[in-house]
Amino acid sequence: MANRKYIVGNWKMNGLRENLGDIADIAAIAAGHDGVDVGICTPATLIAAAVQANPGFAIGAQDCHFAESGAHTGCLSAAMLKEAGATYSILGHSERRADQQEGDTEIKGKAEAVHAAGMGAIICVGETEEERDACQAIEVVTVQLANSFPDGASADWLTIAYEPVWAIGTGRVPAASDVEEMHAAVRAKLGELMGHGSEEVRILYGGSMNGDNAAELLAVPNVDGGLVGGASLTAAKFGPIIEAASAA
Ligand code: PEP
Repeated sequence: MANRKYIVGNWKMNGLRENLGDIADIAAIAAGHDGVDVGICTPATLIAAAVQANPGFAIGAQDCHFAESGAHTGCLSAAMLKEAGATYSILGHSERRADQQEGDTEIKGKAEAVHAAGMGAIICVGETEEERDACQAIEVVTVQLANSFPDGASADWLTIAYEPVWAIGTGRVPAASDVEEMHAAVRAKLGELMGHGSEEVRILYGGSMNGDNAAELLAVPNVDGGLVGGASLTAAKFGPIIEAASAA
């Protein structure tokens, strides 16, 4: 049986209180599509206000430290994010892997920390353009997945996002056949890593998804939803993706 579709917006370093109206508009669209799970990962500064203004709408974080507390200036723990109202967090986004040199072992620790706090985790994996050109994409992604895979994972709290680095924010999208091949490889690796229950772990596609290409991407086998950056910032852009997921 197909998994319920899951559409998550990643606002990255965008959004002030003046943008809370966009979240309210998106939450209203989501409420009208109850066959799809929808959420927005806001900057941490907006989590509490977004949760308060939109009860029942899933607000997430974009990162979380692996430690419970301590001398980690500028970082936020899972307990802090949960207290603010986040129910899940993106982890290991390629921008953090590149800008903050995050590695798989650290990402595994982050996932275990958010789970321990009772939150969900979306672990991002994806190859660079050079790695794809060198025919290493599947090897790179499955190794990232294996090395960042949290202990005790289950589908009720873990989601994987396949995000080819070269497709993020570029307007470029892989061929549907390449997405299908990669999502099948991720599904097979999940089977090796966790056995029972691996079919229910949702695998999102991320990278320049928009209202024009969402229906095609969401129809690919093993694509259980989307992680969406630029096109999640307004209801006008995000709404059509939610609608595509509802129709898929
Ligand atoms: C992302 O950053 O997770 C992402 C998919 O961005 P975009 O949709 O803008 O490519």
